[in-house]
Amino acid sequence: MSNILEIQNLECRYDDVPVVKNFDLSLAEGEIGCLLGPSGCGKSTVLRAIAGFQDVHEGTIRLKGIEVSTPRSALVPEKRKIGMVFQDYALFPHLSVAANIGFGLNKLSRSERESKVKKMLDLVSLSDLANRFPHELSGGQQQRVALARALAPEPQLILLDEPFSNLDTELRKKLSLDVRRILKELGMSAILVTHDQQEAFAVSDSVGVIKDGKINQWDSPFNLYHEPVNRFVATFIGNGCFVKGRLLTPSTVDSELGVITGNRSYPWSAGAPIDVLIRPDDIVFDANSKLKAEVNAKTFAGTSTLYRLQLDSGASIECLFPSHQNYNIGDKLPIKVAADHLIVFASGH
Ligand code: ADP
Ligand code: MG
Repeated sequence: MSNILEIQNLECRYDDVPVVKNFDLSLAEGEIGCLLGPSGCGKSTVLRAIAGFQDVHEGTIRLKGIEVSTPRSALVPEKRKIGMVFQDYALFPHLSVAANIGFGLNKLSRSERESKVKKMLDLVSLSDLANRFPHELSGGQQQRVALARALAPEPQLILLDEPFSNLDTELRKKLSLDVRRILKELGMSAILVTHDQQEAFAVSDSVGVIKDGKINQWDSPFNLYHEPVNRFVATFIGNGCFVKGRLLTPSTVDSELGVITGNRSYPWSAGAPIDVLIRPDDIVFDANSKLKAEVNAKTFAGTSTLYRLQLDSGASIECLFPSHQNYNIGDKLPIKVAADHLIVFASGH
């Protein structure tokens, strides 16, 4: 499959200070990628560079194999065939829904434009609201109009910058699934920017976890969770705690939680001090286990409850039990580790 987008060694600066550095990314045609990272890590800067609104100080950006940005030359944004959707919808307040969607279609004949707008309204399930104005719509509806407007001119790539941030949680979940369905229906290539991992996982095929302007890991949501490459990714994605231990063999560790054998090998010698990543779903209740931990906090979350448990050494771990399995603060629970994915980092690194 060919790549729609290739970024090599990108560097972007503000006032000579680099905020994006040594940034590489490839996006296959039809793929939905995501840039996920804390606020201020450089996500929007990368997106603006792809769209052509941001100078590139090092590296190259290619769209369908064609160089569009280098430190020496830049293709103007209008010629990049890129659609953008922002957090604040940015609809034209004095234009109807239909006119907003048709706005970028001035090269089409009237009848072509009308049929395209109709198709887009249908795609985002807003056919009934074609004549309304933006202020007569909910936030979720406005964002669907913004998406339809960006998709109408048939761009080769769609960029979405925190598109769900102004919406409440329920709507956010629903709209992120809608957006994925719509993009996949069109086979559209897209990059989503967000700081919310649930959103990233719901919408994207691949996610790049960014810290200080650099992708730490570009991977499937499953691998980011189960095979994080470093401590930043391990702690940024999902819940988890580190428990101290020692390597017994390249794929076995001994810790306060007992001996854990995993599916990958580590290069350090036997006895090396390490930290094992323990996810809440790695801990199971086992009535026969001699290993006990005391409940010192619990967070009810509907179908399940997240417990914080304290081990004898004072170290904390978290675990997730179905909410009908109810325990109280101070209870001592028999537990065991059931982890196939043994994630270990060298102590102090
Ligand atoms: P994100 O989208 O991940 O929150 P941004 O790409 O917006 O991050 O910003 C990255 C860094 O660059 C931040 O430290 C931000 O303060 C800085 N920055 C962004 N835009 C400008 C600007 N126009 N001038 C100076 N600094 C900026
Ligand atoms: Mg941003």
